[in-house]
Amino acid sequence: MSEINDLFANQVSYHCTHITNDIELRISTLNNLKIWIKDHDDLITNALKTDLGKTPTESYMTEIGLVLDAIEYAKKNIKKFTKKQRVHTPLHEFFSRSYYINEAYGNVLIMAPWNYPFLLSIEPLVGAVSAGNCVILKPSEFAFETSAVIKQMVDTVFDAGHVAVVEGGADVADELLKLNFDYIFFTGSEAVGKKVYEAAAKNLTPVTLELGGKSPAIVTESIPTDIAAKRILYGKGLNAGQTCVAPDYILVQESVKDAFMESIKKYITEFYGNKPLKSVNLGKIINKKHYERLKSLLKNQKVLVGGGIDERSLKIEPTFVDANFDNVLMKEEIFGPIMPVITYSTIDEVIKYVNSKPKPLALYLFSNMKEEQERVTRECHFGGGCINDTVNHLSNHDLPFGGVGASGMGAYHGKYSLETFSHKKAIMHKGTRIDTPYRYYPFDEKKAKMIKRSVK
Ligand code: NAD
Repeated sequence: MSEINDLFANQVSYHCTHITNDIELRISTLNNLKIWIKDHDDLITNALKTDLGKTPTESYMTEIGLVLDAIEYAKKNIKKFTKKQRVHTPLHEFFSRSYYINEAYGNVLIMAPWNYPFLLSIEPLVGAVSAGNCVILKPSEFAFETSAVIKQMVDTVFDAGHVAVVEGGADVADELLKLNFDYIFFTGSEAVGKKVYEAAAKNLTPVTLELGGKSPAIVTESIPTDIAAKRILYGKGLNAGQTCVAPDYILVQESVKDAFMESIKKYITEFYGNKPLKSVNLGKIINKKHYERLKSLLKNQKVLVGGGIDERSLKIEPTFVDANFDNVLMKEEIFGPIMPVITYSTIDEVIKYVNSKPKPLALYLFSNMKEEQERVTRECHFGGGCINDTVNHLSNHDLPFGGVGASGMGAYHGKYSLETFSHKKAIMHKGTRIDTPYRYYPFDEKKAKMIKRSVK
């Protein structure tokens, strides 16, 4: 693994030259990245088709488009972000100016998962580069076509001292984690997240952990079931349910369960036709191992709709299952197109259940009642979410995106990406013509009084 060590040493030297402090260089490399992506749109969408069976439209909507948006945001905001950020100075520090500088951490490691392999590699990369860092990026080994395209792109657009891609699996990740990075940005599972955190602790390296979890969708009787069903199926259907913020299970108020399920059936036909397994809109499960995992979850289940599977194409129909809290589907994040449906009678039950479980990455409430909206958003603990929609909170770059507790720590997107990859270096700049005597020894009564008076 001396190649990895050499690459890291090269990036450390590159960062020490302060080249990445040059704002124009950051903007022009981001521009080159954007041009490359636009010119090779078909290469990226073909790779995503091979890895995950996504249509070009879905790939553009959920990966490429979001990356282009992130680049545009960064290009427009880097100058403002890198200026000295002036803050108030208290009276007792008169003849001073106070500000902080958003300073790049330095050498950053980004590790990405396979489910949105382009977006989740490149959006953090854009943040890290915009903030002035050098980056080693390790995409997921399971989305190998996309990983290869990412490598080709990075090799073309960036100097290897600035940004480089290291491909490989857990063994390669382990080697990378031994290095003394200044920041680690990890997206993936809770189990690997813990390993990353442990490795980072050895060097006191700060981390962002973007993890997953079981994100509930709550359907109350105060909303037309049709719109709830349509928007939940949209969020679950994307990438065949292999989405960190996909609704993982449904809590539906007893009185509207049947109507809700009728709407689900209607929209499954509308979105995927009468034979969902044949539909181009239904993505494939990433690999045989995950397909088998999902297949075994379907054993002995009371299927309300769906249930079809096809080993050859690794596809599983959107499948809704009649469940209760003890069902095996409620044990771990499902990460596939299977949806347990559980009934409830009062919103108190819902809040109690959600808060008794690890904090999820997302929560979706379908309700037109203000009181329910207020209670659920304020009393339930979760990373972020939507009222009357699913998934799309992450498409607004003015909202921070990240988990809490078991679903992760830290956040990014838009200005939060720039902040994530920067240290806020605080400076107090004092004038030299006047000096305040009261802080210097020896203290006397007069000085003691002045000090007390200066603090409100
Ligand atoms: P994963 O944790 O298995 O892999 C993520 C990365 O870690 C990959 O690059 C992989 O090579 C590496 N890795 C795997 N095993 C490792 C080990 N033992 N030591 C060091 N590195 C290792 O995750 P995944 O299966 O690729 O992705 C699915 C998970 O990611 C789900 O839990 C999902 O919810 C979560 N996720 C979260 C977000 C988010 O933004 N919060 C986004 C997408 C996925």
